Amino acid sequence: MEQFFHSVTLDKELCKGCINCVKRCPTEAIRVRDGKAVIMAERCIDCGECIRICPHHAKRATSDPLSILKQYPYTIALPAPSLYAQFANLEDIDLPLNALKKMGFDEVFEVSKAAELVSDATCRILDGNPDLPKPLISSACPAVLRLIRVRFPQLLPNVLKLNAPIEVAARRAKREAARKTGLPLKDIGAIFISPCPAKVTAVKMPLGTENSWVDAVVAIKDVYPAMLGLMKELSDSDCSELSDSGRMGISWCISGGEASALLKEQYLAADGIENVISVLEDLEDEKLPALDFVELNACSGGCVGGVLTVENPYVARVRLKQLRKYLPLSRNHIEDKVPDELQWDADVAYTPVLELDEDIGIAMSKLREMSQIEQRLAGIDCGSCGAPTCRALAEDIVRGTASEEQCIFKLREQVQSLQDELSSLQHKADKENQEIPPDDGQ
Ligand code: SF4
Ligand code: SF4
Repeated sequence: MEQFFHSVTLDKELCKGCINCVKRCPTEAIRVRDGKAVIMAERCIDCGECIRICPHHAKRATSDPLSILKQYPYTIALPAPSLYAQFANLEDIDLPLNALKKMGFDEVFEVSKAAELVSDATCRILDGNPDLPKPLISSACPAVLRLIRVRFPQLLPNVLKLNAPIEVAARRAKREAARKTGLPLKDIGAIFISPCPAKVTAVKMPLGTENSWVDAVVAIKDVYPAMLGLMKELSDSDCSELSDSGRMGISWCISGGEASALLKEQYLAADGIENVISVLEDLEDEKLPALDFVELNACSGGCVGGVLTVENPYVARVRLKQLRKYLPLSRNHIEDKVPDELQWDADVAYTPVLELDEDIGIAMSKLREMSQIEQRLAGIDCGSCGAPTCRALAEDIVRGTASEEQCIFKLREQVQSLQDELSSLQHKADKENQEIPPDDGQ
């Protein structure tokens, strides 16, 4: 049985069972049972939507603490480009990179550097393989990749089989550091500074590769306060030249950044989980025009909209535009053919968590049963049963994890019929009493 790790978890104490998250989850992974939310591990894609919506802060994203640095003799920070967009009036990327070194990292390797390599590789794949299924769908957003795996398996052949920039950055950085320091790889910790829980999960339970080279993931919101202080202390003379990426790599953290780096016209970029789902549905139904590439980001605005960031994604986008103004287009290219370290070494297979049964005949009969149950329910998707819709409750009933009585309308009907039955019995008893001749005492 597949084991699951999820960055997104529930704090039961704080949960009020209000069903806000149940309604919002794109994979219908949450139910409220006994007054508390329950996440179905096999369905969750760690998109973080439930964290965003919960008014009681009962949903959390777990990541590693900064103290994890102490576990490695040599550490490399892998900052996501969305980190730069968190700081107001930033003109020079070297400032946050030097702050990371002051914080205790031995070196930094920008994820945007690796992103430029992935862009270059994608161009080569698109240009060199005319028979590829089109459009190619980006594999960079791990929440989208997991969504395709559970809900749109027909689109798996279209997914770009390249490692995400975080993974490429970790591999390059660790190999270079091992060469430079002579340390074994196990003594070098590659620590990713992440904007979202999906990327935490992607490191702990990778797709497309057997093992991630990233050793730990720290949230942007956890390094931000310390970085802010250190950046204020740094003068120009303290700052060494560390940045080595261009506009292309930096732009990966905003919606459209990855697609526009391909310098092709026939692309589509969508962000926000609902828009992503609607694009995937249209792709599945072949409703979209001929496209070369589709970039999809689960978070609104792209990675700058991740729940582990601190800044409003639209403000972050404006900042990034300012920051990249004077940068060259790109600084990193692949030499010849696409290197192995960029390519997937494991298949991403369909996980049939939404199927009713492995046997198609049984699945069809369960589907019919589900439709019949759904027709008996109120059909108003109120959520008071703890499932997001009446159809989802019907599915839970067919799966044996819920009962019709959980629907308050069904319960009311049952109480009403019980009441009717009781009053008819009472009426009958009263009538019988009236018909018994009075006892004259003889
Ligand atoms: S939104 Fe979900 S997790 Fe938050 S209190 Fe309501 S039911 Fe609980
Ligand atoms: S992280 Fe996303 S998929 Fe997982 S339970 Fe929350 S809303 Fe649903």
